[in-house]
Amino acid sequence: MISTDKSNELYKKACKFMPAGVNSPVRAFKSIDRNPIFIDHAKGSKIYDVDGNEYIDYVCSWGPNILGHACDEVLEAVISSAQKGLTFGACHEGEIELAELIQKHFPSIKKLRLVNSGTEAVMSAIRAARGFTGRDKILKFEGCYHGHSDGLLVKAGSGLMTNSMPSSSGVPVGYTENTLLAGFNDISEVEQAFIRHGKEIACIIVEPVAANMGVVPPEKGFLERLRELADEYECLLIFDEVITGFRLSIGGAQQLYGVTPDLTTLGKIVGGGMPLAAYGGREDVMNTVAPLGSVYQAGTLSGNPVAVSAGIATIKALEKDNSIYDELERKSKKIEDAMTLIGLNVNRVGSLITPFFTERHVKSFDDASLCNTAEFAHFCRYLLDNGIYSAPSQFEAMFVSLAHSDKDIEYTCDVISKFH
Ligand SMILES: *Cc1c(COP(=O)(O)O)cnc(C)c1O
Repeated sequence: MISTDKSNELYKKACKFMPAGVNSPVRAFKSIDRNPIFIDHAKGSKIYDVDGNEYIDYVCSWGPNILGHACDEVLEAVISSAQKGLTFGACHEGEIELAELIQKHFPSIKKLRLVNSGTEAVMSAIRAARGFTGRDKILKFEGCYHGHSDGLLVKAGSGLMTNSMPSSSGVPVGYTENTLLAGFNDISEVEQAFIRHGKEIACIIVEPVAANMGVVPPEKGFLERLRELADEYECLLIFDEVITGFRLSIGGAQQLYGVTPDLTTLGKIVGGGMPLAAYGGREDVMNTVAPLGSVYQAGTLSGNPVAVSAGIATIKALEKDNSIYDELERKSKKIEDAMTLIGLNVNRVGSLITPFFTERHVKSFDDASLCNTAEFAHFCRYLLDNGIYSAPSQFEAMFVSLAHSDKDIEYTCDVISKFH
């Protein structure tokens, strides 16, 4: 057994100051019945806790660290940018450079805005969609996560299929009554929502590969059919690529699946480990954003120069070598195979992996909900005790980075193979 005495001490102290001692719920390790580990530092594929334990990290800050922790090129960019000032609240050249890089790899993004978090990107994209179409309703999918803004924290209500209810207290019912809900991969529910609400729907928002209920890929034809329905009913299709952007390919899920959304949200990798996100897409839609148009959106730290420099350095590193995504695929496949060999039910798209503790093929939130979370917790604690840090929840993804060496992967597969 490894010792985590110092982490435990810090956790006790943190609980006095923050709810459950954390600044974001999943960090509290509640679903695996452990105390959180406090990180001292991280480099490459490894994180080191305050007790001196070393772990191979498959959380990777929940996605941003595709190059691994503290990548030298990104660090250099951040340090030299910081030396020129931390924030101006004014225009700077880096904003244009990052926008150009994003557009180069996401040709559907003709114009964009930089913001500070994925939550903010999605909230703003939906506002633009509503402003552009003059409609109020949005359609989202069960199990897809789009940040913690009020109107998106919904769960299925009783009664009518597409009726939704707030999934968090503190959210008035009135804030969610314009949010329709359909099952991921369930086209007939989407079609019925359109038959019922037709031209009241401003946009469909979807994670093109769902990664916040565990990894759930779109079934063949699902994204294509969403595109057709959006066209038929003249509403907008928004891909939330906060996780998938720059991860599944350099052009995200839209490049991988060949389906073009009207708007895209980006986060995580695009900020290279700094708080930065973006939303953008069709020029006519983005031209409705203030001060050009009447859709208000603003931010004191939006386009922050230090965060922008991290994003630029990260994208440049990713575009340097087009074998990067093949390498991620190869390494991730090895982990998938090791999990499959011990009988786990694995969903994987590129470097996003979830071992589901269920016999059933997981293609929706309902399927994922049937997993044996106690068994998952047992697996997760086992990995942790063997120096492997992975998402402490059945409903999250494991992230593989370019910093994971063949040795790291081999060790990981070996540990997995001995799980019982
Ligand atoms: C992480 C995430 C968000 C929210 O981003 P934050 O930066 O945590 O606010 C939104 N959508 C998806 C798909 C995400 O994975």
